[in-house]
Amino acid sequence: MYPSRFRYEAPRSLDEAISLLHDGGDYAKVLAGGQSLVPLMKLRFASPELVVDINNVPGLSYHRAEPDGTLRIGALCRHAELERSGLLKTTQPTMAAAAPLIADPIVRNRGTLVGSLCHADPQGDWASVVLALGGSVVASGPRGTRTIPLAGFVAGPFQNVLEPDEIAVEAVIPAAQGARSGGYLKLERRVGDFATVGVAVALETSGGRVIRAGIALTGVGGATIGATEAAEALTGRPLSAETIEQAAGLAAQAARPRTDHRGSADYKRHMVRTFVLRLLSRETAETAERAA
Ligand SMILES: Cc1cc2nc3c(=O)[nH]c(=O)nc-3n(C[C@H](O)[C@H](O)[C@H](O)COP(=O)(O)OP(=O)(O)OC[C@H]3O[C@@H](n4cnc5c(N)ncnc54)[C@H](O)[C@@H]3O)c2cc1C
Repeated sequence: MYPSRFRYEAPRSLDEAISLLHDGGDYAKVLAGGQSLVPLMKLRFASPELVVDINNVPGLSYHRAEPDGTLRIGALCRHAELERSGLLKTTQPTMAAAAPLIADPIVRNRGTLVGSLCHADPQGDWASVVLALGGSVVASGPRGTRTIPLAGFVAGPFQNVLEPDEIAVEAVIPAAQGARSGGYLKLERRVGDFATVGVAVALETSGGRVIRAGIALTGVGGATIGATEAAEALTGRPLSAETIEQAAGLAAQAARPRTDHRGSADYKRHMVRTFVLRLLSRETAETAERAA
């Protein structure tokens, strides 16, 4: 199906893009990679009257680490750049594990991490990863710039808290205070599919103890789920069979899966537990290997 008729603008500056969005009000949409918006428009689930394509806005394609270790990912940084990134491979194990699991190579060439956060699909992989890492989104609009923690950015399925005239300009991952470890596991029916279940684990350890933990779940609820009680069960303690078991059980309890064509609710909950066990057990095995 063809999309409904719309006006297309391709501004060359952020100020111009914001001004267009301001004038367009509720009837305007930002276009970044187009990998979610365009299919929605073709299906007429979205019918914006104005599409503001930000691909000509300079200076948004970066991902870089600040001297203190804070990671910044610009609004036009594609999934593929993150998949190939040496910086992520050496400093961000949870992100590096997730990047090759997003969709397929064609989608990864155009789609953006920031666009994925804005799209707020409960099956979007990046939202879990950024949530587990305690990340946030920086939004710019006519009233200035604000930083929104991801935990408060997603308002529900396919809903974020941006004002209609705000643009998410970057995602920010805070610097680690300890040694960073973690990973992302995704159950999919076939390569390139959305997650039946996804689990992101991000840990920081120091002196043999976990000093910060984040666990977040993809595809097992109406929005990305932060398994905060599971993460708290690890914090301040060493990783042991007991703490790992406890965290895995609490993460499974935090899941709100529904039975559908991808599997039963019980199966999905079981997979959350299994993935948390696997990710955390791998950490203890690697720590033991390093110590040997
Ligand atoms: C076949 C297929 C398979 C896929 N599989 C997966 C998968 O396995 N896992 C996964 O996580 N995703 C998957 N996706 C989605 C993909 O990751 C998209 O790239 C992503 O969801 C949206 O990013 P985008 O840059 O393409 O955003 P767009 O499609 O351009 O925009 C999406 C929404 O976010 C808004 N938006 C985008 N950028 C901004 C911004 N900077 N500021 C304000 N609003 C903004 C738009 O207005 C729109 O509402 C798949 C998509 C396809 C087509």
